[in-house]
Parts: sequence; C-alpha cells; structure tokens
Amino acid sequence: MLFIGKRRNLSSRRIVVAGANFAGLCAARSIPQAWSVTVLDPNPFFEFLPNIHELVSQRKSPKSLRLDKAAIIKRAGHKWVGERVTAIRPDKKQIVCSSGDSLGYDALILAVGGVNNTFGIEGAARYSMPFKSPDHCAAINRRLENLVHRQKGIRVVIVGGGLEGVEALGEILRRFGRHPGLKISVVEGQDRLLPEAPPVIDPEVRRHCRGLAVKFLTGEKVAQVREGAVVLASGKSLETDITLWTGGAKAPDLLYESGLAQRPGAWAKVDKHLASQAHPAIFVAGDAAQLDSALPKQAYHAMDMGRLSAQNAMNLLDGKALKIYSPSAKPALISFGEMDAFAVSGNKVFAGTVFNAAKEAVYQLVMARMDSSWPLARAARASWRGAQGALTLALGSASSLERLLALGKIRALR
Ligand SMILES: Cc1cc2nc3c(=O)[nH]c(=O)nc-3n(C[C@H](O)[C@H](O)[C@H](O)COP(=O)(O)OP(=O)(O)OC[C@H]3O[C@@H](n4cnc5c(N)ncnc54)[C@H](O)[C@@H]3O)c2cc1C
Repeated sequence: MLFIGKRRNLSSRRIVVAGANFAGLCAARSIPQAWSVTVLDPNPFFEFLPNIHELVSQRKSPKSLRLDKAAIIKRAGHKWVGERVTAIRPDKKQIVCSSGDSLGYDALILAVGGVNNTFGIEGAARYSMPFKSPDHCAAINRRLENLVHRQKGIRVVIVGGGLEGVEALGEILRRFGRHPGLKISVVEGQDRLLPEAPPVIDPEVRRHCRGLAVKFLTGEKVAQVREGAVVLASGKSLETDITLWTGGAKAPDLLYESGLAQRPGAWAKVDKHLASQAHPAIFVAGDAAQLDSALPKQAYHAMDMGRLSAQNAMNLLDGKALKIYSPSAKPALISFGEMDAFAVSGNKVFAGTVFNAAKEAVYQLVMARMDSSWPLARAARASWRGAQGALTLALGSASSLERLLALGKIRALR
C-alpha cells in the first residue's frame, strides 16, 4: 500500500514526519503542498497534554482536548498514515511502519515525544496509573469517582511532586477535596516540590494544603509499588487505593534501535540545526530531541522546534544553509486547581488565579492555531489577547506590575 521503491524524478523532495502531536503537527503544517510530505502517527488525535490534569476533575472532557489529525494533515495538502514507525534505516533512508510497509525519505522529521518512565521500579508499571494522556487522566477520574461512591476512606498516593504531580493534586482537591475520608500523600525524590521551578512555589503549595489531609513526603524515593501499598526506600509503607505515577518520561526505544540515541531510554542528540548528530538527513524535534544545553520538555519549545526542523529539512534538500535553533523564553504556567496558579519566567515567580485564565487562553489559542475549524477560534484569539496583556503586565512592565500587585490580583513570590 505504502511502498515507494525507487526515487521519482521529482524526488529529493520527500519529507516524512514521524509523530504528529505538538512538534510533528507544527512541522507538517509549515511545509508547503508542493513538497511530498507523509505524516505517520498511530494516534488519530492531536492531544493537548498541558491541560490533561483537568480531566481528573472533569473540568474538561477528553474530546475537548483532541483534534482530528487526519483532517488537519489533509487540509495542509499532505498524506496521512495512521501507523506507527517501527524502525528507521538511516543507511537506506527508509522507515518501516507497523503494517510492515517501508517508505523512503529524503529528509525525516522525527517527533515521537517520550513514554512513561517508571525507572524500573518493581510493580510501578503494574500497580500505578500513568499520567501522560487524556485516556490516562480520564481513567484516573473514573477510578476516583468509583472510590468516592464505594467507600468512606480513600487513600491516594501521587508519585512525583513535579509539575504533573502538583497539577494533579490541585485537580483532585478541586473535585474530591470535600470528601471527608480523602487522604493524599505526595512522594517526591528531591527535597522540595517542583524541583525544576524556583523554590518559592513549594511553600505556597504547602500553605494551601494546610488543614487538608495532604501529606508531602519530599526527599523520599519509591522502592516498590504493590497492590494497596507504595513502599519507600526509607522503609515506610503508604497504604493506597489509587496510585498516580507522574514520575517522568524517557525516550521511546525507537531512538536507540535506530542508532539515534546512545543507550535505551536516552533522547536523540541533535546539533544546533536540530539535525541528528548521527544522521544529518534526520531532524529531531520536540521532547525526543536532546540539545547540548538542557531544555525543559515543554509544548511551546516542541512547536518551535517542529517549525524549525521543517524549515531545515526543506533547506537541506534545496541545498540552502540551515537555520540555528534558539529557544524562545516563555513563562511556564502551573495551575493548582481552584486555589492558585503560578507564572514562572526565569527566576521570577508570580502567583494568582488569573494565571489559570492565561493557561486556558493558551490552550484555546493552540487548538485554534492547530485547527482553523476549532469552534472557539475567534473567542480564543480574543481571550489570548486579554491573557497576553495580563502576562505582559505581570512579567514585563514595572509600573503595570505594581498596579496589578496593588490590586491584589497577583502576588510576587520571593
Ligand atoms: C501531564 C503533562 C502536563 C504538561 N504540562 C505542560 C505545560 O503546562 N506546558 C508545556 O509547555 N508543556 C507541558 N507538558 C509537556 C508537553 O506536553 C510536551 O513537551 C509536548 O507534548 C512535546 O511535544 P512532542 O510533539 O515532542 O511530543 P508528544 O506531544 O508526546 O507527541 C508525540 C507524538 O508521536 C507519536 N508517536 C510516538 N511514537 C511514534 C512512532 N513510533 N511512530 C509514529 N508516531 C509516534 C505519538 O502518538 C504522539 O502523537 C506537559 C506534559 C504532560 C504529560
């Protein structure tokens, strides 16, 4: 079905995009129709992962976080194949798909993201629930709803006190916080919550949880997960009815198996043009890419990398100079249920629920940009302008910042 054997005369223009979420979809959409572009991904939906925590509280439905990839790719004038890439043969410039067909390329853009990482901890994959997709978070919600209706005491353990863990905690408290029997433990291996963010957020999260049945176990590592218990390396054992694993991500095996990464679980090393250091006709974009200087694995970087890798794939095939990727600085927005939200820009941190509105506006805007038929497109642009104004005020101009601070809309955390 898919087999493209010899190069056609018009070839040297065949670009294959493997993986089509933030990075891959942005890459594909920025390549003009004149190119021969094939996009492969086994998941039919673009999924807006930064807001999946809201499925835990039913603030959003899985449908509201999804877009139809095939329609978006077809609208861009490219070919959509709903299959997984199972192997890459860089020496032959060929990929193999899950159907067994192979497909030739002149340039490949690899944007396959990461997979859940349980770090080989015994029982973690079997007895904990991952937190990496709309399906995962909807399943967590169903399990919690079920427990709330069935039993008086509910013990939740969240493994990982990073961004995902804190956002999950906020949503559990939003929906189930009034349940008298709810007890939550958050286990984080580092000595504070959100170790990747400035330290001022940790005490704020703890302050909001004062008086609630939430226990923070920082500086504690998980040794084993069993049915009904999470065992810590310190020897403590936490009883649990539901264990959420928000502990991290690793690279898919495909990267190592294709010679793009040096060991299993490692990301693909790229140069300043996002070209694979091992195979220059392969560009790697988004979470799957490992630059020389560490970059947070964030959707906004993935989208920028997607667009640049597309440009560089075309430049390579046109014999033009490649562009250098320089990450843009954007504030990270972390929500904490209905209680608070944080905007982190470098080492500056501001707090206030206004940032939840900003996060919602970012979601609306990205959905509208990915799919012009997104129903809220116009409203999204308007709400983004409003939120952008708030963010600029909050993070940019000193006098406006003082006004917002004086109004009590936001707090500067020090
Ligand atoms: C819970 C959570 C919260 C987050 N919050 C934020 C946030 O607030 N802000 C932010 O900026 N970022 C956030 N992120 C990170 C952000 O979602 C990622 O940085 C972003 O998704 C990376 O985009 P990507 O396109 O590189 O990879 P992904 O979005 O992971 O997409 C990879 C795609 O590749 C496909 N694929 C995988 N293997 C193959 C294969 N072999 N063949 C073909 N296709 C394949 C997958 O089906 C998927 O569609 C969050 C992530 C999670 C999980």
